[in-house]
Amino acid sequence: MILEDNYGRKHDYLRISITDRCNLRCIYCMGEGGVKLLDHDSILTYEEIIKFVKALVPLGLKKLRITGGEPLVRKGVENLIGGLSQLDGIEDIALTTNGILLEPMIDKLLANGLKRVNISLDSLRPETFKKISRVGNVSDVLKGIKAALKKGLNPLKINVVLMKGFNDDEIYDFLKLTLDNPIHVRFIEYMPLDGHDKMWKERYLPLTVVKEKAVSLGFELQRAEGIIGNGTAETWKIHGSQGTVGFINPVSCHFCESCTRLRLTADGKFKPCLYWQEEINIRKAIDDPVKLQELIQYGLKMKHEKHRMDLENPIAETGSARSMVQIGG
Ligand code: SAM
Ligand code: SF4
Repeated sequence: MILEDNYGRKHDYLRISITDRCNLRCIYCMGEGGVKLLDHDSILTYEEIIKFVKALVPLGLKKLRITGGEPLVRKGVENLIGGLSQLDGIEDIALTTNGILLEPMIDKLLANGLKRVNISLDSLRPETFKKISRVGNVSDVLKGIKAALKKGLNPLKINVVLMKGFNDDEIYDFLKLTLDNPIHVRFIEYMPLDGHDKMWKERYLPLTVVKEKAVSLGFELQRAEGIIGNGTAETWKIHGSQGTVGFINPVSCHFCESCTRLRLTADGKFKPCLYWQEEINIRKAIDDPVKLQELIQYGLKMKHEKHRMDLENPIAETGSARSMVQIGG
């Protein structure tokens, strides 16, 4: 038994959302009032998450990413990382974070086995950062990035969701960051995930604009290979730069045929695809590894060939319309 779907895709990567809570309120991720939060009782315990992962390792699971909501707001996250890193067969544990709490927590995260971080940062300018995140201070994220660089975390990736009229005037600044630092900036297309169709249609930009801008600025882009964990990103390098520039184009040019990722939501739902509504409640089988494996195999067979996140097919088609903070980005 391996983690294979009906289209021959073999999955070795699980993204685990550990909370739907967050210390920011990013406009593309949730409405102004936030989302309806899950009861504490419905959130998987760390012990349950470890049981789930342990059951999937014999089927080929090798790589994990801890996400949320904001994973660093859940108490004891370092203990979860510690527990997961003890499992034979798990080769890589990464974290996606908004970086606000990273600097004070980085030592204990690394001491417990965290290998890499992706930090989300949509603007380098304090006012724009506040406009996008509604409540955050960019200086806290920059401290987190500095701490990660100081610890020699490599590759250090910065995720930038590009939005028309918000941060498309900062393309140069982000490209420049890769020239001067060993940082991998990954531009991400804004996805229509929470049913906010109107804003998405107004703000969505295809990432071709970044390439066009780079060329117009005289940057010479060349393909870069071998960046760990860059499965979904098309990766380039500016001639002479220390870092790279990645393009994650889920809307304009989807990468479904090479998808190797699975998701576990904070409330214990296995999701074979970010986009489609199919979810399987794994909680009832959490103490039975064989049953868990059967449920996952069953779920994998429901995985669609492609998502339909394009300009003609807004997310409403899936019916579920959960936002990223609820699914786990
Ligand atoms: N709170 C953490 C963070 O922001 O990095 C982890 C969770 S967040 C949901 C994970 C990633 O999803 C972030 O990089 C965020 O920018 C991205 N994201 C959220 N909503 C998105 C959307 N509608 N389109 C594209 N990316 C989105
Ligand atoms: Fe929070 Fe991350 Fe969503 Fe921003 S993108 S609101 S930081 S979960």
